[in-house]
Amino acid sequence: MDLSGNPISSLEQALHAARALVLADLVAGQVAEADVVSLVEESVVQRRWWVEQWPDGADFVAGLVAQDVQDALLERYGRWPLCPVCGSGDPHALDVEPELGPDPHWVCHKAGVKVAAVGALGSATGGMPSS
Ligand SMILES: [Zn+2]
Repeated sequence: MDLSGNPISSLEQALHAARALVLADLVAGQVAEADVVSLVEESVVQRRWWVEQWPDGADFVAGLVAQDVQDALLERYGRWPLCPVCGSGDPHALDVEPELGPDPHWVCHKAGVKVAAVGALGSATGGMPSS
């Protein structure tokens, strides 16, 4: 089996990267428990099928997996990821933008700001306590 130049391998790379990015954000939100990780796996399986039908969408997979997991978490646990930008008012979740495009980011529509790239939520929400 020769993987060099095989388009499937770049799809697998995109799926692997998407899985890693979304898991990193789940870890940042401290919700990366076993059953949550399985939600990511389920999404990756579905998106593998999707991206095999439409290989040009490989760059979009990370944003799609993030949205799949967000939807699945909403049903089972509640909103994720909670907005770290707005200090007051009702807690609300961040949205993925673009919904279908490359280079997805978490955005807060209330504040109108990009909070972090998908996969970089930890650097936006942790590690820098205000003193
Ligand atoms: Zn907000």
